[in-house]
Amino acid sequence: MPLPALTGLTPDALAVWLEAAGEPAFRAAQILEWVWKKKVSAINAMTNLPVALRDNLASSFRLTAVEHTLTTGSPDSTRKLLFRLHDRRYIESVLIPANPALYGEKSDRRTLCVSSQVGCAFGCKFCASGLLGFTRNLDASEIAGQILAAEQLTGERVDNLVFMGMGEPLANLNHLLNAIALITGEKTLNLGARHLTISTSGLVPQIRQLANHPQQIRLAISLHGATDAVRQQIMPLHQKWPIAELVDALEFWNSKKNQKITLEYILIQGINDALEHATILARLARRLHAKVNLIPYNLVLGLTWQRPSDSHCRAFRDVLQHAGVTATLRLEKGGDIDAACGQLRLQQESHDAHMGASSPDTRAKPHHI
Ligand code: SAH
Ligand code: SF4
Repeated sequence: MPLPALTGLTPDALAVWLEAAGEPAFRAAQILEWVWKKKVSAINAMTNLPVALRDNLASSFRLTAVEHTLTTGSPDSTRKLLFRLHDRRYIESVLIPANPALYGEKSDRRTLCVSSQVGCAFGCKFCASGLLGFTRNLDASEIAGQILAAEQLTGERVDNLVFMGMGEPLANLNHLLNAIALITGEKTLNLGARHLTISTSGLVPQIRQLANHPQQIRLAISLHGATDAVRQQIMPLHQKWPIAELVDALEFWNSKKNQKITLEYILIQGINDALEHATILARLARRLHAKVNLIPYNLVLGLTWQRPSDSHCRAFRDVLQHAGVTATLRLEKGGDIDAACGQLRLQQESHDAHMGASSPDTRAKPHHI
């Protein structure tokens, strides 16, 4: 087993470790400052710690759980960051810049889309992440480490965090909650809970559990079908929790939280894009006081699903808007990448398999991108 990552320790756990190591308590604040605020790239760079403590830390911990290996895209559109994990698995995060011209007036924030698992067990028929099945959960240091690494690599703060990368965050709830503590903690990443959106394909019991969580995190539901018949056809998990149960859980959520739920709805030609579906979706959204985010389907290599024409997508949106629902639709090309999570990892892992890669020493040096 690899050493645990320092970025997986809560401030309390670090205090316990320091006490057991016979170190004074004030060292905790110094270490946290180095890791989370100054974002050092090596334990040895924590220059106000005695050498003996640095050595002890370095023999007990890795600094971080994610190794940045590749960036694609450009700073003025969208970048994908590829990370390698200790077991040679890959995950990715997608960094979406503040760009009102591309992403709409309200988007004046830098958003990072993070992964919560390697692969996904839910096998939605349209989704690249679901194609290869499930490998494993990410732990808290691997989840929070993606944000820390993105900030370290770019030298800029992430303002907004969405759990819309690879994996189903609510199927990894314990690690997710630990990661949220690191992400929102004052001494760690210190991002406001309101700037976190958890996206789920609809795990009803976990939605209820998260509703009881005291922080005002946001929720997005990958609905993609307004009727049981459609959801059943494209999302195997729907067998377990039909729309009526999902709606109950979301009403419970609404009773606990202030922020509006977002219903994500991919438009797939001939599957869920009939205008009657828009009418049913509008009814659902009004009942839940939810906004709707329409996403024209992004083609996935190996799958035959198609996106409707732009004009049909607009017509679908108009039905929602005429029914009084806040609905957004992004047709610009720049939007493609944030729905394409999962594909980069697949390419990289098959590349490694071809090359017979075994050396752990190809780590990219941290640099500003
Ligand atoms: N498992 C969670 C978190 C992943 S979010 C969830 O499903 O909500 C990833 C989002 O991208 C989901 O809304 C998913 O439905 C959507 N998505 C997957 N494949 C897509 C594709 N080919 N085109 C557009 N959106 C896609
Ligand atoms: Fe998993 Fe979400 Fe993709 Fe479904 S849409 S396979 S739940 S990542």
